[in-house]
Amino acid sequence: MQSHLKIRWHRHFTGIPTTVTVSKDSANRYFVSFSVEEEITQFPETDSQVAIDLGIKDVIVSSKGFASGNPKYYSKYQKKLAKLQKRLAKKQKGSKNREKARLKVAKLHAKIADCRKDFLNKLTIQLVRENQAIITESLAVKNMIKNRKLSKAIADCGWGELIRQLDYKSSWYGRILIQVDRFFPSSKRCNPCGHVLDKLPLEIREWTCPNCQSHNLRDFNACLNLLAVGQTVLRCDPGESYSPKERAPRQAYGDTSRGDKAIALSSQVSSK
Ligand SMILES: [Zn+2]
Repeated sequence: MQSHLKIRWHRHFTGIPTTVTVSKDSANRYFVSFSVEEEITQFPETDSQVAIDLGIKDVIVSSKGFASGNPKYYSKYQKKLAKLQKRLAKKQKGSKNREKARLKVAKLHAKIADCRKDFLNKLTIQLVRENQAIITESLAVKNMIKNRKLSKAIADCGWGELIRQLDYKSSWYGRILIQVDRFFPSSKRCNPCGHVLDKLPLEIREWTCPNCQSHNLRDFNACLNLLAVGQTVLRCDPGESYSPKERAPRQAYGDTSRGDKAIALSSQVSSK
């Protein structure tokens, strides 16, 4: 009987674990998690602040002009997954072959999720390392544009996971995550002059402002507006109340009732 396990470590730790948990996922992979208390070294402070716009063509576009692209792992494996699922459906319930087929489907699902997580991990650690404050729209805003046609594409972006990672990494490394809440017209507002369009359909990727004639790239312009909101929030409350250990991301509530001066805010922080 073999007594040694082949283990792939995700990260190394020092100290003695307080708990050890063994689990198995639907792809028959075993996980051993150790709970250890660890002092996290925070990143050195920086003046840099960044706003990010979540999207489909690029999972993020930043106010620094960075566009992440979108590897679309689900779409990439969609055909293969459909084939495996079809095979599974044909197998007799309770049979060994059915279990084998089920495992293949589960393994592919796990692979897609792992690839996406890995991509997002690289993005989020870079954002957190390079910036003191990260400003993004809250997911509630993003959910408003959800529709059936887009829902698969949106799921393939992993926005929820991205925000989750930004949230805990910000608090680990002494950064600030600001989530600008709904009603702030980040896309429709012309950043150079403040003019707000009545509407801006999703398919319009760039537009010229009727007021100041600036040519705006949709995502980048939205980022610049988010950045301005975030910086207002930071100015309103730059103090120690933003303890790095604090868990909840800050939220900013935009007030659009004042039309083109929508950036005037009653900024508030969710954790207070
Ligand atoms: Zn304008």
